[in-house]
Amino acid sequence: MANPINNQQSPANTESALFPSYARYPLAFAKGKGSYLWDVNGKKYLDFMCGLAVTNLGHAPERVTAKLKDQLDQLWHTSNLFQIPNQEKAAQMLTSMTSGDAVFFCNSGAEANEAAIKLARKYQQKIKGEERYEIITFTQSFHGRTLATLTATGQDKVKEGFHPLPAGFITVPLNDLDALQDAIGPYTAAVMLEMIQAEGGVHPAGVEYVQAVAELCKQNGLLLIIDEIQTGMGRTGKLLAFEHYGIEPDIFTLAKGLASGFPVGAMVGKAHLKEAFSAGSHGSTFGGTPLATAAVIATLETLQEEHVVEHAAQMGDYLNQQLHDKFADHPFVLEIRGKGLMIGIECAGPINELILVGQEKGLLFVNAGPNVIRLLPNLLITKEEIDQAITLLSEIIQEYAPVVTAGSPNGK
Ligand code: PLP
Repeated sequence: MANPINNQQSPANTESALFPSYARYPLAFAKGKGSYLWDVNGKKYLDFMCGLAVTNLGHAPERVTAKLKDQLDQLWHTSNLFQIPNQEKAAQMLTSMTSGDAVFFCNSGAEANEAAIKLARKYQQKIKGEERYEIITFTQSFHGRTLATLTATGQDKVKEGFHPLPAGFITVPLNDLDALQDAIGPYTAAVMLEMIQAEGGVHPAGVEYVQAVAELCKQNGLLLIIDEIQTGMGRTGKLLAFEHYGIEPDIFTLAKGLASGFPVGAMVGKAHLKEAFSAGSHGSTFGGTPLATAAVIATLETLQEEHVVEHAAQMGDYLNQQLHDKFADHPFVLEIRGKGLMIGIECAGPINELILVGQEKGLLFVNAGPNVIRLLPNLLITKEEIDQAITLLSEIIQEYAPVVTAGSPNGK
């Protein structure tokens, strides 16, 4: 495999001063613009992963760059002990664009989910006076890497070695209403789920199922928390993925695309939850700084004024159609699923090698589990760029996919 910078992935690189907690590809990038990245040797790549659904407006989007540069010259940080006009404005924009009424800003997805879990417990215990603390989540979900959010995550691999885990989390299978109903008890405070399980393999929750979950929450006095960290900010062809489902959660969480790559997370809740986060109940030194929320404002302005979400929906349809036309009958491809510009291609075997071949050919994409190719282009992607990606993907799958015979245990 050609190797542009050095010949070692970080776990083997004993000279690195970093903890080897990431299995890094031997690639480093020096520049990004729009849909493209350039590595340190000047090689160009078409980016169909976007820092894992982060650089949703492409690399270095002009409006966000300009706003950040301007803010850099004015003021970076004060403290949440003071009024922060940019934070107020970003919250106002977010609440006017969504069904949420109040925002808590933080710095990452895990922190946004942590805030949601804390808010749910506080609301149930302090405001409603109930002894409710349990959060029900779903098998194969992913909610983050803090102790509470990895406990909420429905995948054992993120929990190994971190026991004892915080109490108060139950995991049930997705799309199984009986299992959820059985899990609800006197201590249940909230249900937390993703509309499309992204890290878990790009598995959408069913529409009727989600509506029934929302109804169950209402009937049982539970808060419904939707994790929109990967699906949000236009990724699925709506600003928020739950808009496809005709529901309004009590709480939803954002990060990734919220500030186009600047690290910002947000927990957004309904008005009746406001008093549960009274002064002193929760906080974050860096949450919602003037600089971070300038990036949020510029991102939201771009989404609104450039009709980005509508474009993402159209490009999502186009990408889906092209993928089905090209690959639906290929023996290595078992299923193409997802929504908008979050697509999973379930394959009949491991795809790690395909990712490396993609990098060699100049196309970046990621997996979602061992057998699923995950495509996450930026929301301003063009038809021509999609065509370019499809051509490269065809070559990669045609030439390098392990041979799978129809009718074999892995084949169709
Ligand atoms: N929730 C979902 C659905 C995610 O995809 C992720 C990250 O991949 C997280 C939470 C955690 O976000 P962060 O890595 O910013 O803490």
